[in-house]
Amino acid sequence: MIDLLALTLAGEEPASPCGENAKLRWQWLGEGLFEICPLHGYQRAVVISAGIHGNETAPIELLNQCVGEILAGTRPLAVRLLVVLGNPPAMRAGKRYLTSDMNRMFGGRYAQFEPSGETARAQQLEQAISAFFAGESAARFHFDLHTAIRESCLPRFGLLPFQQCPYSAEMLALLDAAALDAVVIHQAPGGTFSHFSSEQMQAASCTLELGKARPFGSNDLQQFADIHQALRAFISAAPLPPRTQRPMRVFRVAQSLIKRSEAFKLYLSNDTANFTELVQGTLLCEQPGEVYRVQHDTEWILFPNPAVALGLRAGMMLIEVPRNTLF
Ligand SMILES: [Zn+2]
Repeated sequence: MIDLLALTLAGEEPASPCGENAKLRWQWLGEGLFEICPLHGYQRAVVISAGIHGNETAPIELLNQCVGEILAGTRPLAVRLLVVLGNPPAMRAGKRYLTSDMNRMFGGRYAQFEPSGETARAQQLEQAISAFFAGESAARFHFDLHTAIRESCLPRFGLLPFQQCPYSAEMLALLDAAALDAVVIHQAPGGTFSHFSSEQMQAASCTLELGKARPFGSNDLQQFADIHQALRAFISAAPLPPRTQRPMRVFRVAQSLIKRSEAFKLYLSNDTANFTELVQGTLLCEQPGEVYRVQHDTEWILFPNPAVALGLRAGMMLIEVPRNTLF
C-alpha cells in the first residue's frame, strides 16, 4: 500500500511508478504529484492540493487519508483526481517555505523572484496542472487546502480567485457542505495557485483556509471533519452532507493595503484576528503620501502583516456582500 505522505517526507518514491486494480489506475508523476483515474468513466477532473505552505499539516494529512482510502478500495473514486503535495522540502523542514512564499508565484510570477527551489517548484506545478487538464472535457475543479497562522473570528473560509464569469454552483455547494463560515471574493488577479487554475485552466477553484496548523501527527483531524466529509463525497460523487450551520457569509475585497515604503505603519496589534470588524473612520495604516482609514460603515481585516516585503500586500480590507454577488 502506498503512503503518499510517508514517502514524500522520506524523500522516497514508490517501488513502481504506476499501478492498477479492478476499479482504478494510479501514477506517481513526480515528488508530491499523484494521479488516480477511475477505469469506468468520470464527469469531473479534480485537483486537490495541500502543503503549498509546508507547515500547514492538517490538510496534508487528510488528503493523504483520502488517497489511502481510495487505493484500499474503502472509498469509491468517481472523478479523475490529481493530488498535489505542494512544497515537500518545506514540509520536511516544518516550515511555511524555505526561500520565498510559493503562493505568490503562480501565473508565471515565479520569474520575478530570486531563483530558488520554490520558483522551480511553482513552475513544475503549473506544468503538472496544465498536463492534467490538457484536452480534458470533464468539469474542472481545483481545491487548494491551507490552514491559517493567526486566529480568525470566522475560522474556516474560502478565497475565490478574481474571475469574470460566475462561480461554479457545484463548487459553492461543496463549500456550503464543508461548513465554511465565509467566502471572500478577490477583485484583482493574484499569484495564488487557485488563481492560476481559474485564469489559465478555466477550473472552478478556491483556496480553503481550514483552521490552525500544528506539527505532523499533532492535528486534531476531528476539527477538519466537515471538509474531509465534503471532499470525500465530492470525489465519490456521493450526496454532499447537509449544512447544519448558519448560512455562509460572503465578503469581497474592498481594498488591498500595499506596503510601498519601509516607513509603512499598520495600526493593529500583531495578534489581530482575521475578520476583526473595524468601524468607519478608524485609522488603519500610514506611509509617506498615504493614509488609510476605514471607508465603509464596517470593514473586516484579513491577513494583516506589516512585515511583508516592499510592494507586497500587508493586509486586505473586506466588505460583506449578498450571496448573489457570486453568480
Ligand atoms: Zn497557507
